[in-house]
Amino acid sequence: MQKRILVTGAGGFIGHHLVRLLKQKGYWVRGVDIVHPEYEKSAADDFEILDLRRWENCLKATQGMHHVYNLAANMGGIGFIESHKAEIVHDNTLINMHMIDAAKTNKLEKFLYTSSACIYPGYKQNSPEVSPLKESDAYPADAEDGYGWEKLYMERTCRHYHEDYGLQTYVVRFHNIFGPLGTYEGGREKSPAAICRKIGLANPVDEIEVWGDGLQTRSYCYIEDCIEGIYRLMQSEFHEPLNLGQDRMISVNELVDIIAKISGKTIAKRYDLTKPQGVRGRNSDNTLLRQVLGWEPQISLEEGLKITYHWILKQLETA
Ligand code: NAD
Repeated sequence: MQKRILVTGAGGFIGHHLVRLLKQKGYWVRGVDIVHPEYEKSAADDFEILDLRRWENCLKATQGMHHVYNLAANMGGIGFIESHKAEIVHDNTLINMHMIDAAKTNKLEKFLYTSSACIYPGYKQNSPEVSPLKESDAYPADAEDGYGWEKLYMERTCRHYHEDYGLQTYVVRFHNIFGPLGTYEGGREKSPAAICRKIGLANPVDEIEVWGDGLQTRSYCYIEDCIEGIYRLMQSEFHEPLNLGQDRMISVNELVDIIAKISGKTIAKRYDLTKPQGVRGRNSDNTLLRQVLGWEPQISLEEGLKITYHWILKQLETA
């Protein structure tokens, strides 16, 4: 029987790409969001505009579905999540609790929840040269205030629904996903997209503003690897939280230099130390990912950034 799949947040960056992958794999797909995808039409068989903070809309969205990839969230880059904590916690708690309970009520088989590296404790990330984060490092907890705590709480909720109700829950912890068709302006964009935009708008020899001192470190994962990873996880029998990201850690300064090289421009950096920069250092430990999925992200940072930079440049030129 052809499985019917629900993707929430299908108007957003990862959800939109995921719908395309699921259609290529032959599923019947329903996308739900409060907005349509911004940059191209959804490949979903059915696309519903529904506010998933509301219980009755979650019941409607999950009706007749077999699996749900629950990606809907009120979120953004570091500037947004550090300044909208109450709104994020309020909206995401309602979306997630209603969605998992609707999945149980409508007897869906599988529920995937997209958590984040923001659940990892601050005390393990306070220097640029940190050890990669293993899944077990999540406790004792000291998550990112607001967004991270809500994610961690929902991870536990998935475990309870699995243990108490038999719903097959899956939890993935993303580490900085980037790629084309993602937000690149307006305040919700993440660092790779923001830097691509700033360099795209710069003169051949120019200077751009960098948040913090540029020494903060991260790992970045390209969108095609992200959707392949969550699809593979959903085919597995693994129900504990799993990292999904690259394990190549670089500084924001290095990220700027790679994008500058791709652009062919000469870019100097002007540091704004008053801007939020999040944790000092973060990397993904992919040991468990390799063990569980027999796979890990394949696309290099340079390759992914090249595609992303040229997509953002095209948007800027046609705007
Ligand atoms: P996104 O903001 O592009 O997509 C989220 C979508 O959810 C948006 O289209 C938004 O309109 C929708 N949404 C918000 N409120 C809604 C509501 N009340 N009802 C229905 N839809 C609603 O974000 P994304 O980057 O695609 O992220 C998808 C998921 O992955 C989120 O849960 C996010 O927290 C998680 N995540 C993403 C990253 C990343 O690097 N992109 C990292 C960690 C975790």
